[in-house]
Amino acid sequence: MAEKKLSFAPAIDIPEHLVGQVQAKLAYVDELVASAHITKDGSQVEITLRKTVDALRAAEIEAKVQRVVEEMAADAIQPKVEVLEDYLDRPVPNKTDPMEELIARGEVSQEETGIYTLGPLLTRLIDYFERRFLDLAGYFDAEPYRFPTLISARFLDRVDYFSAFPHSLTFATHLREDLDVINQFAENAAYEDGGLNAPGDSFSRIQALLSPAVCYHLYFSLADHPLPDGKLVATAVGNCFRYESTNLTSLERMWDFTMREVIFVGSKDFVLENREKSRAFMQDVFKEIGLAYRVETANDPFFVGEFRKQVAFQTAFQLKYEIRASLPFKDSSLAIGSYNYHQDFFGRHLDITMPDGSPIHTGCTAFGLERVAFAFLSQYGFELENWPEPVREAIK
Ligand code: AMP
Ligand code: ZN
Repeated sequence: MAEKKLSFAPAIDIPEHLVGQVQAKLAYVDELVASAHITKDGSQVEITLRKTVDALRAAEIEAKVQRVVEEMAADAIQPKVEVLEDYLDRPVPNKTDPMEELIARGEVSQEETGIYTLGPLLTRLIDYFERRFLDLAGYFDAEPYRFPTLISARFLDRVDYFSAFPHSLTFATHLREDLDVINQFAENAAYEDGGLNAPGDSFSRIQALLSPAVCYHLYFSLADHPLPDGKLVATAVGNCFRYESTNLTSLERMWDFTMREVIFVGSKDFVLENREKSRAFMQDVFKEIGLAYRVETANDPFFVGEFRKQVAFQTAFQLKYEIRASLPFKDSSLAIGSYNYHQDFFGRHLDITMPDGSPIHTGCTAFGLERVAFAFLSQYGFELENWPEPVREAIK
């Protein structure tokens, strides 16, 4: 029988707390998957395919889904989510999805899937939030840095990035230095069927990727040396790239987005104390902005094979706290930032040492700028008189 929709029970129960994370990974199971949904109670998987397939192909896709479910959900123990701040019920005036209005006003224009141009209102709003994040950086006397958009494949390998997040990588390549290859490309290159038609062997081997995060660049620049003062606080803003496949929807999940980070390098106590200080500082900022949000323990979106081990580790040591802003129009929340502690992971992998020879510890506070603006508009809408005064004044 020909099928375009697959619906089946998972081979093992998917506990409710994992439903969202398993569902997000199903986008990467097969190129024919157009969308994937797991019911809230984890009892049913529903897949929509891009075209009708025969029973054999359908069974193949189902088997791959079952592998993901088993690897991610077997023997899952529900982590205890610790809530550090809860202002989710801060009253906010808006309940509608701002995306439609943003598109109608020409404030958001989609250049490609997950790639957006932002207009004056969003830009001013982001500039305002940026100034608040720079206040945080100023509070720590953070040194300003500028980092490249490309990131070294050699260094990403040193920090095991490829096994942790292979699914969301974006590669940078160029034509091979070969007269025939370049001429052929120049003569024949055309955009066809959703992509460039150039043969795969026209392209060079991969030395660089598009950067998935900001703070990595700082650690790479410090690699293989002792850190002279034994401590450093830095700040930078940069474009970040995470290929999120069919999960790329609206400003909530972009392929190319912008992140501001404040980065702490030093002893364990130095990093942990500063992570707490930045949380306390931002608590006041978010109050002024009137944001409804909460801060809770979280984990990074590791790929299937590394998921269980890494999540257990991150949870056990409370390495990540997420700032989750409420999205009233869909009765859910969106991570607009995170407070991270990496222990001595980068110190060990990159051989960055304290004056006493021990590996340095690192941590960072990171904000997704488009998401902050999107969450704010979701909560406050477009009527400026409804906005908290400091934001309204800054936008005028
Ligand atoms: P992370 O390093 O994963 O904690 O990311 C830091 C912040 O970047 C998140 O809290 C989000 O606000 C933002 N972010 C991460 N991925 C995306 C994405 N695909 N689209 C837009 N913003 C993102
Ligand atoms: Zn970081």
